[in-house]
Amino acid sequence: MTDILSPASPEDIRRQLLSVVKSVKGQIRNAENLYVSVDLKKPRLQSAPAVPETEDSWHGLHTAAAGCERCALSKTRRNVVFGDGNRSARLVFVGEAPGADEDQQGLPFVGRAGQLLTNIIRAMGLERKDVYICNILKCRPPGNRQPQPDEAARCREFLDRQIELVSPRVICLLGGIASHFLLDDNTPVGRMRGRWFDYRGIPVRVTYHPAYLLRNYTAEARKKVWDDVLEVVRKLRELRQAEGI
Ligand code: SF4
Repeated sequence: MTDILSPASPEDIRRQLLSVVKSVKGQIRNAENLYVSVDLKKPRLQSAPAVPETEDSWHGLHTAAAGCERCALSKTRRNVVFGDGNRSARLVFVGEAPGADEDQQGLPFVGRAGQLLTNIIRAMGLERKDVYICNILKCRPPGNRQPQPDEAARCREFLDRQIELVSPRVICLLGGIASHFLLDDNTPVGRMRGRWFDYRGIPVRVTYHPAYLLRNYTAEARKKVWDDVLEVVRKLRELRQAEGI
């Protein structure tokens, strides 16, 4: 037995050293476990986290978008406008980009154009909570300018994953920007209307953006949009019948 006043034997010193080594090894293991659990083991090379491929995909996707700095719009936005509505919706609307009201509230289509979209959805026999609504861009372009191709390309992964997660039966594209970008087709909206397109196996219909309709609130323009959304309703019914629900 040793105490602090008597010199330790070589065997005591060996035992003490072994115990110190064991304790240090345990502390290193605990530290490694901690790093794994908070995912600090791998260095982060990107300024924005890559969209994670996790089970909890909505949470991961939303978190990645909320901290996204992939394009310069991250410097001027107030809020990231991720998307809104039913995450199991059979119908997804995709617009262009958030405006001032959306940027302020962090929700898509809440301004005047949004109110018109809400009316259109109601006229289809649905409510906003029945559909999912999002945009090509998640952050507002300053002065409501059009999205730049590089911004849309950088933001694309969020949109693709949103649509993949919702897995809708039909997509309705609102306006030229959304239509040209998602379908990779620069035909004017007026000539894209009236037929079905395909996005990864999902039928897609193109119509005018509600903001265009506000600027051009003629009976003819309203009828065109009404014809487009009626086709969407018909397609949803047809698919429902085919699925036996
Ligand atoms: S617009 Fe899209 S890519 Fe650009 S910062 Fe916002 S979320 Fe990121």
